[in-house]
Amino acid sequence: MLVLPPLTYYFWLCLRDHDGALVAPSLGELIHNVPAPTPRALALYGAWLASQIVLQLWAPGRVQAGVPLADGSRLPYRLNGWVSFWVSLAAALVAGAAGVIPAGVAFDEFGPLLTTANLIAGALALGLYAQGRRAGSTTRDPIHDYFMGTTLNPRLRGFDLKYFCESRPGLILWVLFDLSLAAAQYERHGTVTTAMLLVNAFQFLYVADYFFHEEAILTTWDIKHEKFGWMLAWGDLVWVPFTYTIQAYYLVDHTHALSPAATAGMVALNMAGYAIFRASNIQKHRFRRDPTRPVWGRPPEYIRTAVGSLLLTSGWWGIARHLNYLGDLAMALAWCLPTGLEHPLPYFYFAYMIVLLVHRERRDHDVCRAKYGADWDAYCRKVRWRIVPGVY
Ligand code: NDP
Repeated sequence: MLVLPPLTYYFWLCLRDHDGALVAPSLGELIHNVPAPTPRALALYGAWLASQIVLQLWAPGRVQAGVPLADGSRLPYRLNGWVSFWVSLAAALVAGAAGVIPAGVAFDEFGPLLTTANLIAGALALGLYAQGRRAGSTTRDPIHDYFMGTTLNPRLRGFDLKYFCESRPGLILWVLFDLSLAAAQYERHGTVTTAMLLVNAFQFLYVADYFFHEEAILTTWDIKHEKFGWMLAWGDLVWVPFTYTIQAYYLVDHTHALSPAATAGMVALNMAGYAIFRASNIQKHRFRRDPTRPVWGRPPEYIRTAVGSLLLTSGWWGIARHLNYLGDLAMALAWCLPTGLEHPLPYFYFAYMIVLLVHRERRDHDVCRAKYGADWDAYCRKVRWRIVPGVY
């Protein structure tokens, strides 16, 4: 909580004032560069949150039961993210074209918006903590409770705060920021470069895919196991939209050309990563639903564990235990390469994803080892590689 918010301001300072170079500012310079939330930023962010809440509540979408909770009950979730995503996009494009919202606003108001989002995430975590206290679910450690949260599925009159924050205000804003940064490049340089188009297209595909497969959110680690506190709230509202857009922000004033060969290579890398990511995730999902369904045209091979679950050992899941992470990493690299090789900062996302996914694989390995015991060891002997076949 002390390091990450200043880090987001530091990245912005490097991008805005130092051309993307990693500088060593004094603490005074860093503090001096934390802008107050302007009335425009407050109005924009407030309107953004309000519109997303309205869409979550009333946009059409089927209601799906979540995974069984400890007491056996299942919470209902309205899956209307796909509709909300497209409605938000259309509304933002109309507002930008009509001049209601300046098209390059993400560039002009980045700092004040960042402060606004930080304040709202902090206040939300405070509200969640107060709610936990009232419900008697706090521990003796208020800082831990504030950070990690106290409740798995906090709801306000049926409105699920964690499910909402996990995707809507952060992920959709990431795409809108990208578009706005492309508009800012056009306003400042009279062109939208191929590099900017690639970053926009790649990240758009990733977020659209997320909402297209929205049902899968219900079985993610965050929804199933993580309580809702500062960590998730801040990650959703601040980290995703304000650091995943570093590449697009960097490109606003870096208008270098990409050769056709480089462009083709980046598109190929992104699409290969996407294919591995999507195909492996869906293969496991389908196998768990119907273990008789053929995998790559043949009956699936698997280990039947003592606790009853089946571990697939053919198809993508026979090549490495987390080939889906490799797909993510290939995409992450493809999103950074269009920025060129002048500065390391635009590669932050790739470096971050390596740390995140290697750590996640280790954590998942421990959880599965504890759950499946000797069956997991047998699986690891059969499928030797963790993420990168032949390497790791
Ligand atoms: P996985 O989808 O890989 O799920 C892991 C779980 O699947 C295990 O705990 C186990 O659960 C089950 N499992 C493991 N091996 C097998 C097998 N061989 N056969 C059947 N089931 C198996 O992990 P994540 O939820 O971490 O990732 C999902 C996707 O999201 C990935 O593509 C990942 O890269 C991406 N991601 C992206 C992030 C981002 O910020 N861009 C962040 C995090 C993830 P069980 O108890 O059911 O057996």
